[in-house]
Amino acid sequence: MTIYQMVDFLKDRLNEGLGWISGALQYSPGKMDDSGDKESLWSSEDGKSHDMSLTDEAEENYFSFPIDDSLLQTPDEIEDAIERVKALVLETEGVSEERRKLVQRLISLRLRLQDVKEIQEERGENSSEELRIINHHQFIHQNQIVHRSPQYCDRCGGIIWTVVQHWYRCKGIDTEYIAQICPEVGLPDQNFTCFECKTRFTLKNSWMEPRICNYNGRYFCPICHKNNSHSIPARILHNWDFEEKPVSEGSRQFLILMARKPNINLDRVNPKLFSFVEDLNIVKRYREDIIIMKDFFMTCRDAVAQKLLRRLDEKQHFVESSCMYSLQDLIDINNGTMLKFIEKIHDAFERHIKETCQICKGKGFICEICENEQVIFPFDSATHQCSSCHAVFHNICFAKRESCPKCLRKSRRALNVL
Ligand SMILES: [Zn+2]
Ligand SMILES: [Zn+2]
Ligand SMILES: [Zn+2]
Ligand SMILES: [Zn+2]
Ligand SMILES: [Zn+2]
Repeated sequence: MTIYQMVDFLKDRLNEGLGWISGALQYSPGKMDDSGDKESLWSSEDGKSHDMSLTDEAEENYFSFPIDDSLLQTPDEIEDAIERVKALVLETEGVSEERRKLVQRLISLRLRLQDVKEIQEERGENSSEELRIINHHQFIHQNQIVHRSPQYCDRCGGIIWTVVQHWYRCKGIDTEYIAQICPEVGLPDQNFTCFECKTRFTLKNSWMEPRICNYNGRYFCPICHKNNSHSIPARILHNWDFEEKPVSEGSRQFLILMARKPNINLDRVNPKLFSFVEDLNIVKRYREDIIIMKDFFMTCRDAVAQKLLRRLDEKQHFVESSCMYSLQDLIDINNGTMLKFIEKIHDAFERHIKETCQICKGKGFICEICENEQVIFPFDSATHQCSSCHAVFHNICFAKRESCPKCLRKSRRALNVL
């Protein structure tokens, strides 16, 4: 066997593995051998009992879902399958069980076709990456084996089996947090199974404690939920509440992965926070100043040579806008480290522009209205910058005028020329 044959052999085995895993993701382990368990009861804390059995209907739906369709990867392959299933539907009788299953398969194939097409559009036609889509996970083929200790999907926090993890890495990254505080779904809606691994909470002779995840409100088994805690984005964003609460391992992994991504637009999510949380308001003002200062540095040789903006490397997104926050930013604002960090940078930037750098200093303004000789800058407090000519005035001076004197002068001059 040559090395190439060996690789092909391994790839084939891997594909089989993917098929099996995608099957496992759709099928609930333990479902097949606990049919004698239908009358078993699970007693909840409130003393009420819940019937653990699944209806025959639900059980049927579960098993009628095809395993092989998840191996179809291209729109052509899926369209082909759709045509074949359509033909089969026409051959079956009006209300037969077989027909019902085929129609269901047709629906799932159409959904899959839509998914695959959308994902293809998203990543562009010419991408050479090999992509496999299983359920909602998008796996990109990795040329090198990557050994990462976490075994959860980057996108959804779901479990990924080790064999897959070595070769494929989920491409999609969720950009939004769940906005609702612990959106509890309830055990019956989960069929009394762990949301992650689908293990049933009631087995014949033992009882497993379902643990709620305070991030997504789902119930998990003790293996998928080890009672580790994390602060919850929705609680922070609604109530500025940073208390750590028990979350599932998958959610914890997701929250840790996402913590430094600036994906929260506070102006949109909850602008009221700025008036309730003083430090947040101060940080916001500093960030707005820094965005204005950035324009000075872009055209200043010294600032470039001194790599001034690089001081924000740790918080790269502060250079791009003033409104996007990461979860870690909010945590740092709450524990006081952010204010110290940004104050130091803000002061250093200000000193460069107003004191040490002749180039930047020369870009300051004299208020045309009061003609006071003190130089002012657009990031100074109590100043107003005209949005069209960018001239800067004292706030109180500008308030007395109805419009910008410089713009007025310009338009008069234009009229005279006519
Ligand atoms: Zn995924
Ligand atoms: Zn579990
Ligand atoms: Zn400068
Ligand atoms: Zn003035
Ligand atoms: Zn103006």
